[in-house]
Amino acid sequence: MGIYEELGVERVINAAATLTALGGSRMPSVVLDAMREAAGEFVDMHQLQQKVGARLACLTRNEAAYVASGCAAGMVLGILGCRTGGELEKIARLGSGKGLPNEVIIQAAHRNPYDWVIALAGARMRTVGNTRQTFDWELESAIGDNTAAVLHIAGIRYAPGALGLPEVVRVAHARGIPVIVDAAAQLPPCSNLWHYTKDVGADLAVFSGGKELKGPQASGLMVGTTAMIEAARANGAPHQRFARSMKAGKEEIVGLLAAVERYLALDQVAERARCEAWCSRWAQLFSPVPGVRTQIDPHNEGGADLPRLAVEVDEATLGRDAFTVAEELWSGQPRIAVLATDSRTLYLEPDLVEDDECGLVGDRVLACLRGGLVHEGK
Ligand SMILES: *Cc1c(COP(=O)(O)O)cnc(C)c1O
Repeated sequence: MGIYEELGVERVINAAATLTALGGSRMPSVVLDAMREAAGEFVDMHQLQQKVGARLACLTRNEAAYVASGCAAGMVLGILGCRTGGELEKIARLGSGKGLPNEVIIQAAHRNPYDWVIALAGARMRTVGNTRQTFDWELESAIGDNTAAVLHIAGIRYAPGALGLPEVVRVAHARGIPVIVDAAAQLPPCSNLWHYTKDVGADLAVFSGGKELKGPQASGLMVGTTAMIEAARANGAPHQRFARSMKAGKEEIVGLLAAVERYLALDQVAERARCEAWCSRWAQLFSPVPGVRTQIDPHNEGGADLPRLAVEVDEATLGRDAFTVAEELWSGQPRIAVLATDSRTLYLEPDLVEDDECGLVGDRVLACLRGGLVHEGK
């Protein structure tokens, strides 16, 4: 009996996305082996972070790197670094925040469910622009003595009228303000590991370890300038300071390194081709159903460079909408998770579905689409 079975926890086939609510990702055996080995010994955790950070920096072509307990935790550490510069006397003042810059600027068009990290770092959010657009002068005029950082959310899923990262870096750096990039799900391309920081000039970019990197679910990769990483590091474990509660364990630290090494050695073309092939096969399977149209979206849920299949359903013909189909897939055996973004559209992502599960996903989705047909009879 498997561990989840024994617990009475149902297994899920994840054709949705690298969602935390579904466990993020699946760790390949090289990552698991590294974690298992790391778990069996004691080390000096400061030294481990230093050595792994240096390796990660080298692998990702950055000045410096640090392993956090998630992308969200990495953003908190980054903001704390910006508020304190890593100075002990200032870190000691984080409880009251007295005399420390306490505003983090974010574009209104970038607001998302993860921007709690600003409050968690004891700062106030200052939004600029509106939900569709921001002008550079709006950002410029929001910067003041109290500004700690600008938080920029990367990816194509945000309004195209928002300021791009190069613009944000230009305006912020002209006033000496650091820029932190939330790049949680922005892989592939793997060049993003250095693009935001080395090419565009952001001070820090943070990636989830438990998403496309397929590392530990509770890990986050922080890459950026040495000054930024050192300032962030001073706030986190193993120091007993403000962000001690967000510690990454030795298993996560070593596991994330193994995951990044693996990711950079992956044949990205083959990975992409595999996803494209499954999207096409699913499309062939579903498109003959009346009331169903399929289209390959070249970008996944997070907007990264991996294809997914959009399945558009016509409720009048099918007798059910996309939400109903998704619910039926979720309540079946085994559970299958897909994304229904509105009543017309379902998305299927092959990336996290093993080849031997892809056929099952296809059959089950097909059955659900057919199951409600109004005109064809049953
Ligand atoms: C997933 C995600 C996060 C949180 O990442 P964790 O590694 O789970 O902490 C933050 N921002 C965005 C945009 C995300 O997609």
